[in-house]
Amino acid sequence: RGVVVAIDGPSGSGKSTVSRRVAAELDLAYLDTGAMYRAATWWCRRADVDLDDAPAVTGAVHAMPLRMVTDPADPRVVCDDVDITAAIREAVLTAVVSKVATNLDVRTELARLQRAIIAEETTPGTDSRSGGRGVVAEGRDITTVVAPDADVRILLVADEQARLTRRARERHGNADHSTLEATRDEVLRRDADDSTVSTFLTAADGVVTVDSSALGIDETVDAVLTVIAG
Ligand code: C5P
Repeated sequence: RGVVVAIDGPSGSGKSTVSRRVAAELDLAYLDTGAMYRAATWWCRRADVDLDDAPAVTGAVHAMPLRMVTDPADPRVVCDDVDITAAIREAVLTAVVSKVATNLDVRTELARLQRAIIAEETTPGTDSRSGGRGVVAEGRDITTVVAPDADVRILLVADEQARLTRRARERHGNADHSTLEATRDEVLRRDADDSTVSTFLTAADGVVTVDSSALGIDETVDAVLTVIAG
């Protein structure tokens, strides 16, 4: 069977970039589970579902025709034959994704889909992206809930300053006082909302913590590869 690498962490820890690079390096599939919560939010908004109506959200998510393309060179999210890879990154969607992600029935359903993708990517003989070689799956509850039996489990952390600086650069191209302030609300509020349902701010038993605060991307990728190499 193929290998499962689970990586959790808060926003701005570098988790997505690093996970993608590690997957490419090891020729594994890449599964961005945050993109699935974003897709669920996109799907509800498109169907005009009130995000505060939990049963309606649950119903919509169960009917969501989602396809995750797990190629680390070009990961894509397709829903109802619409490529929503870019749309799910928009600020209006980011601002409300936690509403959908804190719905426990939604979490159960998406965890089920995530386990199915992981199973496919670790089963030789399927026509999965990795051909059964395995997958790097990242999110907030992969090391604890989705794949607690993963071969490698990593919590990628970074201090607040590093996370805010990265997000501000990503969103606004610089990290001056005003872009840092604008980013602070998005990042910290979302962490607070998300941590009501996931424990991604502290490492669970057996999970290796990698701190990227003082590391560049290449160094963080190397640190993660070192953990995987055991
Ligand atoms: O990582 P990203 O910012 O794309 O995740 C978007 C949102 O999806 C998070 O803010 C969180 O609400 C939710 N999420 C989650 N569990 C995961 C991954 C993401 O609840 N495993």
